[in-house]
Amino acid sequence: MSTEEKPLHVQVAEVLGWKNCRVCDCQSCHGNDWVGEDPKSPVRAIGNQRLVEDIPLYDRDWAATGPLIEKYNITSVCLSKYLWDTVSDFRPSWIARADSLSGHGSSPLIAICNLIVANPERFREEALNA
Ligand SMILES: [Zn+2]
Repeated sequence: MSTEEKPLHVQVAEVLGWKNCRVCDCQSCHGNDWVGEDPKSPVRAIGNQRLVEDIPLYDRDWAATGPLIEKYNITSVCLSKYLWDTVSDFRPSWIARADSLSGHGSSPLIAICNLIVANPERFREEALNA
């Protein structure tokens, strides 16, 4: 599966350093859930491996993305009110910013995810040492 086909939240996770991201192969997920190894999770005492965990839904879950917003001082504002008078086929449009970087999307979280994915060197997180 190419990078382009990975869901946005999985692309964000890989920027943040998650390893071995893949579709979960358990019976209950029906191939819809993605799992991986969070570099910030402690390694197991036995086998020196990390837990395989569900990848947070960064593009939909404020609780997952909130710590990133705080850590990286990200802002997100709606452009809609500026476009409302000029665009006939109105759709919500958001811009997310961190320093001089920016990303766009149809929701605040999608804009933030696009910002992160487009600037991996800025948002790559440090792995927790075992
Ligand atoms: Zn599963």
